[in-house]
Amino acid sequence: MDSIFRNISDSLPNTEKLPVLFLGHGSPMNAIEENEFVRGFRNAGKSIQKPAAILCISAHWETRGTKVTAMQNPKTIHDFGGFPRALFEVQYPAPGNPELARQIKENTKNTSVALDESWGLDHGAWSVIKHLYPEADVPVIQLSIDYTQSARYHFELAQELAWLRSKGVLIIGSGNMIHNLRLVAWDKMAVDDFAYDWNKEASSKMKESILSGDYTKLIDFEKQGKAFELAIPTPEHFLPLIYTLALADNNEQISLFNDKAVAGSLTMTSVKIG
Ligand code: ZN
Repeated sequence: MDSIFRNISDSLPNTEKLPVLFLGHGSPMNAIEENEFVRGFRNAGKSIQKPAAILCISAHWETRGTKVTAMQNPKTIHDFGGFPRALFEVQYPAPGNPELARQIKENTKNTSVALDESWGLDHGAWSVIKHLYPEADVPVIQLSIDYTQSARYHFELAQELAWLRSKGVLIIGSGNMIHNLRLVAWDKMAVDDFAYDWNKEASSKMKESILSGDYTKLIDFEKQGKAFELAIPTPEHFLPLIYTLALADNNEQISLFNDKAVAGSLTMTSVKIG
């Protein structure tokens, strides 16, 4: 224990404890559109002191085992198809932070974290972070989601990252609490806050858990019945929320923003802790 903390404090200065975010990223088009969700991301950025670095856990980087990006200059990855050319032309040239990646690897004891040189920034990261820091002047690294592991495992791994909050690192989970692309109501895209009944049910239960500070139901999301099954058909967009919640201290302030449904089967609900 002693050596861990000596190691950490030597290389990164202490800061005030930074908040933690979960950002519902929704459509990649949010990267280039002006809308209420984008304004929500921008306001969240303005409400937080400028971090020394960002660690993002994105729904769009799933791997076997856990990896952390360790390159000096992560490339902007356009990991989607069928969108306008303007979206493919977006570049988000934030630097990486190889030293921070190494620190995370060294100080995570219960999981082996591998340094990655091949990923970069996927749209789960850049489509939202670009609204928080449009100048791309805050280094960004990503931590992958090990798709072989349970929500409990991810919760416990995230707890091991809590020290970063006092080292100037803003941790951002980027996904969507409710994300069922098979059931998207394409004809209701323009209807404000349109949600199917199962979406409303799952969303209100999730928010109740988040605001109560008791995350048991969320960690055991597979046992919560039909509404949760429809809300979380696959876990990758939900698990970034688990990372965010695991970083909350007891009785820490938790607030919601961008709390709206889109197209029946998605929500943009985002969380700020601290
Ligand atoms: Zn996504």
